[in-house]
Amino acid sequence: MSGERLISQAKNTWCPGCGNFAIQHAIRQVLLELEAEGHPLHQFALITGIGCHAKMADYFSLNSIYAIHGRTLPVATGLKLARPELKVICCAGDGDAYAEGLDHLIFAAKRNVDVTMIVHNNRVYGLTTGQYTPTSPLGFRGRSTPAGTSERPFNPLSLVIASGGGFVARGYTRRLPQLKSILKEALQYRGFSFVDVLQICATFFDVHEAYDRLVYEPESHDPSSRPRAMSLAEEWDYNSEGPIPLGILYRKEMPVFGERFVAMGSDTGPRGESIQALLRERR
Ligand code: SF4
Repeated sequence: MSGERLISQAKNTWCPGCGNFAIQHAIRQVLLELEAEGHPLHQFALITGIGCHAKMADYFSLNSIYAIHGRTLPVATGLKLARPELKVICCAGDGDAYAEGLDHLIFAAKRNVDVTMIVHNNRVYGLTTGQYTPTSPLGFRGRSTPAGTSERPFNPLSLVIASGGGFVARGYTRRLPQLKSILKEALQYRGFSFVDVLQICATFFDVHEAYDRLVYEPESHDPSSRPRAMSLAEEWDYNSEGPIPLGILYRKEMPVFGERFVAMGSDTGPRGESIQALLRERR
């Protein structure tokens, strides 16, 4: 139970020490700051996937939708097209975003859909008790791989930059002030803002000692440089012993999907009706 603004009365069942608490705290702080700066809370919508992270939809008192596994981004894209005035935030897990939902991630970056994607990347399926995900390290021993995985992880940051993403960042749940500032900038960015958050899973993959030792914030990084962003993104392959750069690695302004969609006449139905009018009719 909580009396804090924006936090619901739902019973919290995250494990003690879970990094989801830090992400929730950072999002809450950012939303309250944005509200004070003139963005009413009813204009934010939260879409979650399936996993421990998804309980954000229960624990926040905010307009929210539980999507099905891996489908935060299609739901968010539809919502943003139907209600362009909303600020749409997706919270997804690493299994959710990088396995079941990988194709949607690539296409959201390619299209530059105007939503913020926050990936709670604990590098394990926590809710289902510890199976490996696409960012688990080679040799990870879990419920589904007791002898260790034989797969190398892939790098979501370089993937999103290569797919055309214009805002690519990495945060860490034990670097809270920086995480908050990244999330605020991500929410203020017009276009697809992608934040991979290294999140501690206290129960199935607690690597906080390694992260604490390896993370760093690059000095005098120019996030407008794509080659420099790509080189920073590739500095850590989610497998080796770092170093792990944190912060906004890439930032570029470009037209967003909704604007292009309307400009190219795709906002009309089969008889030329406005999509907005059709949606209003069906409400
Ligand atoms: Fe958090 Fe891991 Fe527990 Fe899930 S299993 S609530 S991710 S610590």
